[in-house]
Amino acid sequence: MRSGAVMAATGWPDCARSLKGVVLDMCGVLYDSGAGDGEAIPGSIEAVQRLKQSDLQLRFCTNETQASRERFVAKLGRLGFDIRQRTAAPPAGLRRSVTGVRLGGSDEPKLCGDRRRSGEVFLPEPERCFSGPGGLDKPLLFSLGQGKYYKETDGLKLDVGVYMKALEYACDVKAEVIGKPSQTFFQSVLGDMGIQPHEALMIGDDLVNDVGGAQSCGMMGVQVRTGKYRPSDEKHPSVKADGTVDNLSQAVDLILHQRGQ
Ligand SMILES: [Mg+2]
Repeated sequence: MRSGAVMAATGWPDCARSLKGVVLDMCGVLYDSGAGDGEAIPGSIEAVQRLKQSDLQLRFCTNETQASRERFVAKLGRLGFDIRQRTAAPPAGLRRSVTGVRLGGSDEPKLCGDRRRSGEVFLPEPERCFSGPGGLDKPLLFSLGQGKYYKETDGLKLDVGVYMKALEYACDVKAEVIGKPSQTFFQSVLGDMGIQPHEALMIGDDLVNDVGGAQSCGMMGVQVRTGKYRPSDEKHPSVKADGTVDNLSQAVDLILHQRGQ
């Protein structure tokens, strides 16, 4: 699964000694979404605080598509998390630059309401999107993620990848994924921290999109047994996490212990 990028010299959790930054997935690691603001996963609020007080850089990397960054961070604040907006990276932040390149340099991509002219499609609004590009020869399809499902407090829910696949089939096109596991997304977060892939660790509950995506970039990837985690993930045929931990709190314990903090 990994590219030829420089790899960390040691495995998990020894690699924590040479880390410069940690990237956290949010849903399923910090909290489970659901009615109202959802529920914080036990120990995660304190774990984030401990990372913030350490010498490691910290970023939050989410495929969240249902709220603006401001509203999303405010929701997490109500759950008890102390997160600054600029450290949270949703895929929508990259949308304009990526689609601008694909659309011939325009930095003002047309959203669903005006897509007949530009031929682009945004998810999730599959019915509305399809009704627009249906008459075009080669519509451009961008998706802010490709997750199959995610965990809410009352069970698993279908994620945006399901609708992306439906539109790929209906329109006979291949979507360009802007969020995780896109390397562009991970590299933008690394660039923001100013560190190399082998100096960063990704912690997520999605084996393929969090862990596999980060590993493809040359980062280490650790999976938590919270959120959408399933025991079968530990026998996945193509993606193997560098480590698996019970929850974020345990991951932070191991990281900080290795670093003597
Ligand atoms: Mg997640």
